[in-house]
Amino acid sequence: VPPSSSPTFQPVLERIAEEVEHTPGRGRPADYIPALAARDPRAFGMAVAELDGTVYGVGDWQEPFSAQSITKVFTLALDLAREGDELWEHVGREPSGNPFNSLVQLEYENGIPRNPFINAGALVVTDRLQTRTGDAAGELLALLRAESGNPDLDFDEEVAASETAHGDRNAALAHLMASYGNIDNPVPVLLDQYFRQCSIAASCADLALAATFLARHGVRADGTRLLSRSQAKQVNAIMLTCGTYDAAGDFAYRVGLPGKSGVGGGIIAVVPGRCALCVWSPGLDERGNSVAGVAALDRFTTLTGLSVF
Ligand code: GLU
Repeated sequence: VPPSSSPTFQPVLERIAEEVEHTPGRGRPADYIPALAARDPRAFGMAVAELDGTVYGVGDWQEPFSAQSITKVFTLALDLAREGDELWEHVGREPSGNPFNSLVQLEYENGIPRNPFINAGALVVTDRLQTRTGDAAGELLALLRAESGNPDLDFDEEVAASETAHGDRNAALAHLMASYGNIDNPVPVLLDQYFRQCSIAASCADLALAATFLARHGVRADGTRLLSRSQAKQVNAIMLTCGTYDAAGDFAYRVGLPGKSGVGGGIIAVVPGRCALCVWSPGLDERGNSVAGVAALDRFTTLTGLSVF
């Protein structure tokens, strides 16, 4: 880890970890994917990655966990980079106000999901990336490995199999959208890509580093550009408005940063121009966001004054 030129984030992370340690209610790990239910709800890790790749961490910040919906940010970036605004003919950009796996709104809106971060929208994005690359999950894994600098990142086949075995709801979403002509690939091919995408295991350090291209306004770790400055702004904006299930309003109110959570208990957040963060604790609230994770990010922006507002 290279030395930092700016004041270190280490003391603030230690203080947050100490506070979280004394927080009583931690929520419950997701149990609809049996492989996720086994995690200890008291595990906690947090990492901050600066634009030059310097990483600070505390607690279980190097422990891999199931990235789940956090990966939706990266597939969105990969697809936008390839097809640009055409994507928006197939998926919207409004908060849904419905749970992440809801079917209801699709029928009223001709199979066009509200945004790329609810499951229906993420399935559309993965489908389009699959059509363009022939291996959406592989492209995603390559991006995460390159940006995190961790060549060992991989799919967790046990989690993917567990989710496939309990995948009726996602299959229903995909079939319903296919009936409106909004899915290109055979549904079983798409679901296989999507479940492998969600199963990627990564640590807070890996995901904070992987998200720094959004803090660098679209520029990757090697200096090449993945997204235009304006596309990076768009992805950050969608994270702010739609990134934390049907609790994005509360997350913006408490944390004030673009963020994306996953049912594995991870949350990434971006301070444009400054750093990216990832926090992990498997206990979730009733909307599916990590209880300690949201609390830790809330404390981070309060203690540092770093927010987009
Ligand atoms: N693989 C999960 C699903 O589609 C992702 C859920 C999530 O993290 O929001 O059910």
